[in-house]
Amino acid sequence: MNETGVLIQLDNIRRAYKMGAADLEILKGLSLTIRQGEFVAIMGPSGSGKSTLMQILGLLDKPTSGTYTLMGRDVAGLSEDECAILRSKTIGFIFQMFNLLPRTTSLDNVVLPMLYSGLPNRLERGKELLREVGMENRMLHKPNQLSGGQQQRVAVARALVNRPQIIFADEPTGNLATAQSEEILARLQALNRSGITIIMVTHEPDIAAHARRILHIKDGRILSDVDNAAVAQNIPAGPAAPGALPMASPAPTAASPTPPPHAPESKSSMFPNVRPPKISVSEFSEYIASALRAMSANRVRSALSVLGILIGVSSVIAMLAIGNGAQKAIEARLQSLGSNVVMLFGGAPSSRGVRGAAGNYSRLTLEDAKAVRMASPDIVELYPEAEGDVEIVYQDKNKVSEMQGVTPNYASIRNAHPDYGRFFTEAENENEARVIVICPNVVKKLFGDENPVGKTLKINRVDFRVIGTLPSKGAGSGDQDDMVFTPIHTAMKRVLGTVYLHEMAIECANPQSIPAVMAAIETLMRHRHRLPPYKENDFRLRNNAEVQSTLSGTTKTFSSLLGFVAAISLLVGGVGIMNIMLVSVNERTREIGLRKSIGATRRAILLQFLIESVLLSVLGGLLGISLGIGVANLVSRFAGWLVLITYPSIALSFAFSVSVGVVFGYWPARKASRLSPMEALRYE
Ligand code: ADP
Ligand code: MG
Repeated sequence: MNETGVLIQLDNIRRAYKMGAADLEILKGLSLTIRQGEFVAIMGPSGSGKSTLMQILGLLDKPTSGTYTLMGRDVAGLSEDECAILRSKTIGFIFQMFNLLPRTTSLDNVVLPMLYSGLPNRLERGKELLREVGMENRMLHKPNQLSGGQQQRVAVARALVNRPQIIFADEPTGNLATAQSEEILARLQALNRSGITIIMVTHEPDIAAHARRILHIKDGRILSDVDNAAVAQNIPAGPAAPGALPMASPAPTAASPTPPPHAPESKSSMFPNVRPPKISVSEFSEYIASALRAMSANRVRSALSVLGILIGVSSVIAMLAIGNGAQKAIEARLQSLGSNVVMLFGGAPSSRGVRGAAGNYSRLTLEDAKAVRMASPDIVELYPEAEGDVEIVYQDKNKVSEMQGVTPNYASIRNAHPDYGRFFTEAENENEARVIVICPNVVKKLFGDENPVGKTLKINRVDFRVIGTLPSKGAGSGDQDDMVFTPIHTAMKRVLGTVYLHEMAIECANPQSIPAVMAAIETLMRHRHRLPPYKENDFRLRNNAEVQSTLSGTTKTFSSLLGFVAAISLLVGGVGIMNIMLVSVNERTREIGLRKSIGATRRAILLQFLIESVLLSVLGGLLGISLGIGVANLVSRFAGWLVLITYPSIALSFAFSVSVGVVFGYWPARKASRLSPMEALRYE
């Protein structure tokens, strides 16, 4: 027997649906041969399995048993994606319900299959086909702006866009008025004459009469298989295809009158390549466009899920900025203490935290300071410090400030170099000179824009001459910018009236020498204070390096805690996106089925929905970053905290919001991609 020209070969095809425990068999051993170029109508009562058969033929569904040979190859072994690619290259579908994408122009609907097949020149091809079906004036209309007949013409153009060899039409005229039906049928006939094989399902005899071969199905079996060539002559031709109805040679032995232009010669080369095409830029931009369409169709819903991410990202940004700022402020303060510095305070360890409290409070004197300076060769510098609050008056303005009496070497140890004027000298200290160096807040409060250097002010009613001003320690430095500095002798004798120091700062040669220096000071001080071995120290020694590392460790923990809490709100936002995407997938089940039927692979559907969720989360991320920066700045302005917005924290939040879109969008997208095309199309 001559095998050439056989397109479709069905052998004993069965299809059963699981209904509860039982199997409901719809196709009960169906065998059929269809050759290239035929126009076959499949008829039968409603529920007889016509659509089921059509879906198996169109690779949207697999038979329960039996073999289906398409273009010489058994398709049983093809994966879902291979079927999708095969569909996109060789098969066009026309449905009763038109199945155009809503809110999408005719032109975009027509060229959609070309995205999946990766064919070039989409728009030209789409326009050409729309002109061919007489829709050149409706290219930018959306389905809801078209009549049923016009929608079906768009659907016909879409079925043709990839130059298919076979067109499956499932009751293509079921929703059309008579005149429109005639037009669509005439088109199908014309297409058939151009060499395309047409398989059409209908339950109306006068529709079926347009075909050249009519199959009757009943109870899942073929009842009759009639050559309609003789009858066909009596059917009036549609308006778009005047006359010239094909005088076909009898089916099924009929060869196609003119083979399709691209019809391959030999059987082996007939079967197309089913490797997935690369994802193109245009495909990518269609996904973005479709995501935007879906988002704008559900504005409130999209806005709410964007809001979830927005709140999450903005709190991450603001919290990190506040945390980093706090850390920076504390570090700046600690840094100004110097890291090789050991502090010595009076007072027993039991009075820790209540410095200055009465009781067994030991006093440090300038004599102690001199002795400590000599305690170890590793001590490079030492300054003693006496402090107390004072009232400063300049003309009609006054301010309460902390006075620090220090020695002149304070300036070099603590890096406190005046920006105007100078620091005091050792001679001024020895002479108890009434000179003062003031910090920026004092300048601002008392002098405004006036230059304070050289001016005289009163401290606790005693005249002092301003000799210098210190620069600000920076935002977050707190009361450090509030202080005034005088020589320590002046402070103790003339202002504070004390012989005791508040503390002394001892600078060591290097960090390694600190423990030895501390031990030497402890021995010395115990000896000077005549402490018997059973008594505890009546002074406290503190290592700044140690304090620095514990404190900055604490602030790090604090800011990561803030970030963590904010990240949780981002996760909550992510769950919101997942929820919306699941709803979206559910709502668009039919759309997914349609996209698959015109050649979308699982990967393509997955990508489409992932892009949609990432778009939502990125939008939330961008808005959240701006809001977060705004909130951080407001906090800094009104609470006066140092906030620090770093590029890494912005990049981190952005990356986080993208990954929220990917992670939380993946499951819904995967769910969408795994829908069976047949079930998705039947979904109500
Ligand atoms: P028609 O010939 O009208 O196109 P169909 O092929 O759509 O008929 O359906 C044939 C039979 O299969 C019907 O009785 C229908 O109830 C049943 N059927 C179709 N799809 C399913 C399904 N997914 N699960 C169970 N039964 C189904
Ligand atoms: Mg049907």
